[in-house]
Amino acid sequence: EARVRFAPSPTGALHIGGGHTALFNWLWARHTGGKFILRIEDTDRERSTKEYEETIMAGMTWMGLDWDEGPDIGGPYGPYRQSERLEIYHKYAQQLLDEGKAYTEGPAIIYKVPEGISLAFDDIVYGRIEVRSETLKDIVMIKSDGMPTYNYAVVIDDYTMGINYVIRGEDHISNTPKQLLIYKALGWEEPQFAHLPMILGKDKKKLSKRHGATSVYEYRDLGYMPDSVFNFLAILGWSPGDDREVFSREEAIKLFDLKRVTKRAAVFDMDKLNFINQEHLKELDPMVRLEMVEPFWKEAMLPVEKHSREYLAQALELMGGRGRTTKELAEYSDYFVSFEPVKNRYDGSDVSEEDKGILKNFFGDLLKLDSWKAESMEEFARSWSNEKDVKMKNLAMPLRWALTGVKVSPGIFEVAEHLGRDEVKERLAYYGF
Ligand code: GLU
Repeated sequence: EARVRFAPSPTGALHIGGGHTALFNWLWARHTGGKFILRIEDTDRERSTKEYEETIMAGMTWMGLDWDEGPDIGGPYGPYRQSERLEIYHKYAQQLLDEGKAYTEGPAIIYKVPEGISLAFDDIVYGRIEVRSETLKDIVMIKSDGMPTYNYAVVIDDYTMGINYVIRGEDHISNTPKQLLIYKALGWEEPQFAHLPMILGKDKKKLSKRHGATSVYEYRDLGYMPDSVFNFLAILGWSPGDDREVFSREEAIKLFDLKRVTKRAAVFDMDKLNFINQEHLKELDPMVRLEMVEPFWKEAMLPVEKHSREYLAQALELMGGRGRTTKELAEYSDYFVSFEPVKNRYDGSDVSEEDKGILKNFFGDLLKLDSWKAESMEEFARSWSNEKDVKMKNLAMPLRWALTGVKVSPGIFEVAEHLGRDEVKERLAYYGF
């Protein structure tokens, strides 16, 4: 059973790298039936804020990464905010001072690195890493302002919180030997380390703002679902062993294994995220899908409340997997919610008066059909086109434009059936059919 922690500094929102680290810790905790701890590393008093702490937690909650112990819910090893643990850091620093393993410079407390020691660890991902102590400078533990440094506090916390796996970004590999020194100095057994590969943009440069959205929340606002972001981040540097790329949380928990994490840098591929999101979107329960799409219709000021939930959910079903994001799906299906966006896109001026005459006849008959079912309409349109020697396409296309204002849509008679006879009549009349 793993006791793992995610230890963000609250100096910004939860970004992709942080979400990735949190996710891998969470997966390992859930896979092993262990505990996932949230620790806030807020010793940088200038840059840390309560707001960022809350945004990070909200980002984790959105992704479905729940923690078992943390500053908000407490736990047996608290407090879980470094700024509230100063006494603990001072206690052990004093102990090292008393044992002659550290010295002071003014108010700072510094650990004296002994010479001739080999600092080695077997990283679960990177393998054996070894550094000689001569290559390291003495380690400041407590700064002159009384605050602990990262490399010192992290050891005190990980040990006193009973952490047995430290899973974090590879940018911390060079810190690990320094931390090993502190473990050794205090006579503590160190946890197992697993450093996660770097995440690169498609251009193989370190992921940054230039590559698009960097915070987890931005993806929510772009119409990506939490299950998809979860799934997508899970396969950055890890795979279940076969070619599968789309899976649920439960499957990920079952399949996840730290031993299968690769050290090869992972490439953040938007196309893959889009693909994964689209797959999850297709699988959603219709009512849940509606809940996720709805905010985007509302944002576009469409009168969602004018329709029944069933009507709207069914409209999205009709879209048949179109749309890579909930935002796209909302855009592609807006004509089911209101006629207004159709009018904004299409003015009907491309139809000649002559064609208008023909179409008027056809639509007039169509609207009088006994059964307002897609099959009946289609059958009727087919015989009408044969009889009058008009191409089917020349009937269906104008209908599609008048009802949706777009060139591509689900089967137009299905759209007509779902919109209902009255609505179709109104839209056709608007274009003079
Ligand atoms: N606060 C550190 C960071 O955000 C934690 C690193 C660690 O997990 O040890 O990078």
